[in-house]
Amino acid sequence: MAEGLYTKRFDGRTFEECRPMTAKVGVVPSADGSASFETGDTKAIAVVRGPRTLHPQHMQNPRTGILRVSYGMMPFSVWDRIRPGPSRRSEEIGKVSEWALSSVVDLSGFPNTVVDVFIQIPKADAGTRVAGLNAAAMALAHAGLPMKEMLSAIAAGKADKTLLVDVDKAEEDFHDGEGATDIPLAITSRSKEIALLQLDGKISPEELTTSIEMAKKACDDILKVQMEALKNAGVQNG
Ligand code: UDP
Repeated sequence: MAEGLYTKRFDGRTFEECRPMTAKVGVVPSADGSASFETGDTKAIAVVRGPRTLHPQHMQNPRTGILRVSYGMMPFSVWDRIRPGPSRRSEEIGKVSEWALSSVVDLSGFPNTVVDVFIQIPKADAGTRVAGLNAAAMALAHAGLPMKEMLSAIAAGKADKTLLVDVDKAEEDFHDGEGATDIPLAITSRSKEIALLQLDGKISPEELTTSIEMAKKACDDILKVQMEALKNAGVQNG
């Protein structure tokens, strides 16, 4: 790895190391499925409702159910209060989360229906979209929906010339040298396919290949935490 200005992480982690992770399944008893995923000071809660008949009727698909994902940061999730309600950012994150989760959940047995996934962020210190995906994949399995595979997600990235995983907010804001690059990635559990890759910042093709490898290793660790949480809740699916 090229020698850069960021030689030691602010919180003492190795560059391949995730923040301490916690996952819980069944955190909202009244929902069809629910889960939380926490990494450091970032926390996501995902709640699943459905399948139920989709209205208006012209939006129904007679061949499959439809997945609909919404994402929101809670007003006090960061020190600057977040304005409640949709924003361009929350719409984008909801959409990309929907695409990523659609590649692992199989709704072909539920024609004309919708499955709603609500992702809420009570605490944000970067990596909220990937924490949301980790929680949502568990919540869908908890709801008993057929999953082709599980999904695990992580933000890889770069601070100056140093590649790392599970980028926190201080690292995302690293302005020295080449600055910071943020690469949220979601990886499927069996086929190890990329279900989401976004890129904000600069990175060479070689560094991107290495970042993806680092993200895949981190996702193996995340998957273990997710599977343990599902097992603890008595969920076989996933
Ligand atoms: N953030 C914030 N206010 C906002 C949006 C984001 O303080 O309106 C912070 C929050 O800590 C978030 C981080 O910036 O986790 C990074 O946001 P980004 O859009 O890169 O998405 P994320 O990394 O959370 O998926």
